[in-house]
Parts: sequence; C-alpha cells; structure tokens
Amino acid sequence: MSRNLLDTPIEYLKGVGPQRGDLLKKELGIFTYRDLLHLYPNRYIDRTKYYSINELNGNNSEVQIIGKIIHLKTVEQKRGKRLVATFTDGTGEMELVWFQGFKWIKENLKINTPYVAFGKLNSFNYSFSIPHPELELLEDHQKNLSSAMQAVYPSTEKLGSKISNKAMNKLMNQLLVETHQLFNDTLPKEMRQRLSLLSMRDALINIHFPKDPNLLSKAEFRLKFEEFFYIQMQLLIKNIARKHKIKGFPFKTVGDYFNTFYKEHLPFPLTGAQKRVIKEIRNDVGQEAQMNRLLQGDVGSGKTIVAFLSCLLALDNGFQACIVAPTEILATQHFIGISEFAQPLNLNIKLLTGSSKTVERRIIHEELESGELQILIGTHALFEDKVIFKNLGLAIIDEQHRFGVEQRSKLWTKNVLPPHVLVMTATPIPRTLAMSLYGDLDVSVIDELPPGRKPIETLHYFEGKRLAVWHFIRTEIAKGRQVYIVYPLIEESETLDYKNLMEGYEGISRDFPLPEYSVSIVHGQMTPAEKEVEMDRFAKGNTNIMVATTVIEVGVNVPNASVMIIESAERFGLSQLHQLRGRVGRGAEQSYCILMTGDKLSNDSKIRMETMCRTNDGFEISEVDLKLRGPGDIMGKQQSGTLPLKIADIVKDQDILHYARHQAVQLLKEDPNLEDETNQNIKNKLNVLNSKTTIWNYIS
Ligand code: ADP
Ligand code: MG
Repeated sequence: MSRNLLDTPIEYLKGVGPQRGDLLKKELGIFTYRDLLHLYPNRYIDRTKYYSINELNGNNSEVQIIGKIIHLKTVEQKRGKRLVATFTDGTGEMELVWFQGFKWIKENLKINTPYVAFGKLNSFNYSFSIPHPELELLEDHQKNLSSAMQAVYPSTEKLGSKISNKAMNKLMNQLLVETHQLFNDTLPKEMRQRLSLLSMRDALINIHFPKDPNLLSKAEFRLKFEEFFYIQMQLLIKNIARKHKIKGFPFKTVGDYFNTFYKEHLPFPLTGAQKRVIKEIRNDVGQEAQMNRLLQGDVGSGKTIVAFLSCLLALDNGFQACIVAPTEILATQHFIGISEFAQPLNLNIKLLTGSSKTVERRIIHEELESGELQILIGTHALFEDKVIFKNLGLAIIDEQHRFGVEQRSKLWTKNVLPPHVLVMTATPIPRTLAMSLYGDLDVSVIDELPPGRKPIETLHYFEGKRLAVWHFIRTEIAKGRQVYIVYPLIEESETLDYKNLMEGYEGISRDFPLPEYSVSIVHGQMTPAEKEVEMDRFAKGNTNIMVATTVIEVGVNVPNASVMIIESAERFGLSQLHQLRGRVGRGAEQSYCILMTGDKLSNDSKIRMETMCRTNDGFEISEVDLKLRGPGDIMGKQQSGTLPLKIADIVKDQDILHYARHQAVQLLKEDPNLEDETNQNIKNKLNVLNSKTTIWNYIS
C-alpha cells in the first residue's frame, strides 16, 4: 500500500529539499509525492529524431542536432556580451549562443568533439542559432538515452530558472524509485481487462517515461478515461440519490387550470418539441422526488408557454409558482406574456422588481403569505428575505448562469420540501459540457422553432460599407419594419464605450432625422423607468430605430423588428452575438442580422463572423464557442475551472468522455450501490473524492 507514502511532503523527495519544495508548492501547487506523480507532461520531445543543419527551417521549434563546435568567440554588444560557438555537422553551419555563464562554458566545452545540441531554434536572415542549448557529449548521450520520448513538464518562469525540465525528469525518476511504483489501481481488474486499459501503475510509468508511442497513447487513454469516469460516477450517483432522497411535492393531479388552458385557450398549436418537453416536466413533477430540470431552447423556441403550463400544474395542486429573470426588462416581458396567456383563467399573477413601489410590495408580501398570489414573476428582488411564499411548489429560473445556488434556495427557506426547479436557458450548452457539468440534472431540449419562421439572414460588412447598410435600413423602414443598432459595452472600457455609443446615436439621429424617422436609445446609465419608456415606444412602433447597448440582449420581444445591426461585432463573443441576433426573426417577415466590424480581424474574430453567417443553430454555435474559448470562459470559472481534469480535455477528448459515461452508466445499472466485491476500489476512490469535492453541489 503506497497511500501513506504518496502523502509524503514533497521536500522529502531526494533532490528536492526545502527551497525547491517551496517553489514546487508555490508555482505548481505540488505539496506531496502524489501531486508530483500526477503532474502530467504537456508534451514529449522525440529524442530519436536528429536534424541536419541543411534541413532546418523556421518552423522547427525545438531541434536536436549532432555536430562539432569548431570555433568559440566572445561578441561585444550594446547590451552586454555574448558567447558564440560555431557548430557544424558537415551539412552546414549554425551558431550556439550564450548570454551568461561564459567562464564555465569556456572551460568545459570541447572543440572538435561530437556533441548533441538541443534547444529552441532561432532563425534570422537564413542563418540559425540555438540560444542556451542543452549540450551533451554524443558518447554520453548514447549511454543515457533511456526513453525515446522525453517528457516536457508544465513550468513557470520562476520555477524554470531553478528546476530545469531535465531536473524535473530526474525528480520524476526519483519518485518512481522511492515509491517502488506501488500505485493502487482505482479500477477493477475485470474492467481493465474487458476495456483493455493499462493498469494504473503502467499508465503512470508510461506517462512520465514512455517506452514507445503506442504505450504512451495507451497511458494517456487510461488516465483520461479515469478522470472522466469518476466525474460521471459522481454525477450519476448524485442524480440517483436525489431521485431517492430529495423528496418533493408530487403534483398528483393534472387539473382544471392545465386542462382548460390546454384544451381551450392555447394561443397556437404547440410544436412537437414543446409537447415533448411538457410531457417530461409533467412526468417529473408527478413523482415523489424533486424535479431538477434544465430546459434548453434557443431564442424564440417558445420556452415561455412551457413555463406557463408548468406553473399551471403547480396551481392545480394547490401550490404557488414563481419565475425569476435576470433583468427587469426580461421579468416585465415575462409578466406581460404570461398575463396574456393567463387572461382566460383569471389568475392572480404579480410582478416584483427592484422598482416595485412600497405599497405594491406590501400587497405582494401579504398575498404571498396568505397564498392568494398564485404566480409571482420578478427579478432577484424575489430573493429578498421579506419575500415568503405560503407554499412554493415550482421555481422557474430563466437564464441559468446569472444566479448562484445559495441565492436560489433562499426562495424556499420556509418550505418543508424544496419546490420543483426548472432552469431555462437560451444559451445552449454544448452537449459535452452539459454531460460533464450537468450530468446530475435532467435536461430537456426544445430543438424546433415554431412554424413559419424564416431563418435570419446574417451578413458581415466592414466599416467601408456603412452607406450601403444605411441604405438598406431605409428600405426596411420604408416597408414598415424596425431596426436595432447595438453597441458593445464592456466594463473595462466603459467610458470609451459610452462615448462611442453616444457618438453613434448622434450620427444615426443625423442620418435618420425627424420628422421622417425617430430614434430611441436605451443604455445602462438610464434609470429603469427611462429605459421602460423608451422600450415601450419602440415596442409600440412609435420609433423606427432602437440604439442600445447589450441591455437588450435578453428576452426583448418586438416581432416587428426585422433588422439587427451589431456595431464592432468583433468585440462580442459568439453566444452574445447569437443572443443579440435572436431579438429579430420573431415575426413573419424575413429578418436580417448585420455584423459591422473593422478591417483588421483576428483569426478568432474571423471564425466568429463566419460561424454567425453560416448557421442559426445555437448548439452548433456553442460548440464552436467551446472550441475557441475553452469551457472555463463559457461556464464561468466557478463552474468549469474546478473540473478536476488534469490530462483530459473536455473539447478534444469528447469521445473518451462519452465512452467513460457509458461505462459508468453500465456499471451503476449492474451494481447501483457498489456492493460487489470487485467494485470496492471504485467505492473507495469515490469516498476520497466526495470528501474533497464541492462543485457537485453547485447546480442543484
Ligand atoms: P423564448 O424561448 O426565446 O423565450 P418565447 O417563449 O418568447 O421564446 O417565444 C417566442 C415567440 O414565439 C413568442 O412570440 C411566442 O408567442 C411564439 N411562439 C411560441 N411557441 C409557438 C408555437 N408553438 N407556435 C407559434 N408561435 C409560438
Ligand atoms: Mg424567453
């Protein structure tokens, strides 16, 4: 058993000591033998490949060359001296260069003796050099070469100057010596054999000192599988436990409210996807367990009616329901939309936001506690302590990423049982990410738009085409349409951004003058009341153009608006662009999204513009986004940054993730409580993980 040994503080490893130990802790978070063991290489250098000087080109970043030093000289420069060796291998000449440590080098270097030089190649005017090369006598090199592939470990500037990569390799070797490579396996032998997985021991040895490329890739596979497998096990077990343990209020009956509305008052036939999702929700809330469901649906896919029907299920069973939205505008829109649906049912529905008047608030508080109020819609104002429901049965949270869990659970502190929770998001989460982060949530997807929608046409224009774009706006307005023009507003450059916005607004007001045109403006520095007035004017069709910052990003619904112009589009992320585009295409008319950018675009920006022009599919867009930005930025650090992935990459290793999930599902089907003797090491590892991880409590 090597558990105790692996817990040994890192400074005790021969070759480390207190000073290096401190560095390893500070720079790489390595505190114990175990931490070092799981410091996986970033990449490997192929030490069997030798370049000849005449085949070098600017792209060989790291090269290994056999040759001789024929000449050594010191060169004076403005900024100090350098030592230059002329190095030749018979096919050409190059330079080895040092900026320090001259004395030692001069005394030890052998002229006209075969060396292996290794390092990063610099090229300048067709001549090549390696600064501070690793030099080894060819003779020694041949003796020492134990592994063809030499691991390159993550490092930092501070660490690198004290512990070179070569030294890191030595430490790793020492670690394997001291531990006698007695590493517990975390997967049952039977499973390893069935799936042809390396043992943990072989995987760890080969990840650090690969015997050959084949074993290396097997080692990588095993370790990646391991990481995904245990994440999936945790999520799946949590999901099972929730279904068993967390009791919810079963909504036993589908009663008058739901049935009457469904049979007599649906404003439109539901899409197949909407029907399916409602069925899923109905099934969930009918159980003894609490529902914890994520509803994904692209902008305009019709989540609101699903939310409303879910509320009716709560009311039918004598419970209250609430809908929480991230912004006042969005909450208001929900309120208007839901009230419209509800009109024939004569329900008590109220809106609570930061700008609700004291008198209104008091009424709301009273009616909530008495149970008179049936559906409460609002912003985070709902999370205030004074807001106490009599019996909240369903909480619907719109736009998942903006609220934390603690905040949410404030809603039901007074409840005996937690209400059912439906989280709605219009930011499609890539399936891969959903699987690893939300594996314990049930997910419903509305993947079908209401009929009759014409796909939005998206175009990308450079600034030089502005006149043409303005002309296009005029023709659309002449047809009776309305136009959004959105400016970026980013915290770090807020002052400048406001300046651009105001200048833009002035320019637009000049180019689209009264009385023929009228222009609205909405931005974050206006009071909620001012915003509302402007939004209202635009929504009623009293103004033709709405100039705005991203405050209109979420939820605003003006079906007559058919053109969305996004200024400085290169400054927006993909999901934001997609959200903004979703503000149009809500009516029967052909809609357009025009991305205006400067001439110089980074590669990422180009991909973003191309993606937007190519597709309207939010899932496809989110996959591209995931690839461009990585999971951290998409989900927010808090959620994905804590994913315990050291070697697996959630984007690149999707196949392994799916495979690992499948295996985890299979295993839990056969042995749900991990009682089988062969599964004890899995159980043990899970116990260790559960005592450490907290992220899995994050979502529900
Ligand atoms: P989102 O999912 O973005 O919240 P909404 O619920 O606001 O979408 O719906 C967008 C628009 O589509 C609304 O005007 C809504 O009334 C309409 N809508 C929703 N479902 C249907 C449907 N099945 N048939 C026709 N129109 C629908
Ligand atoms: Mg919506």
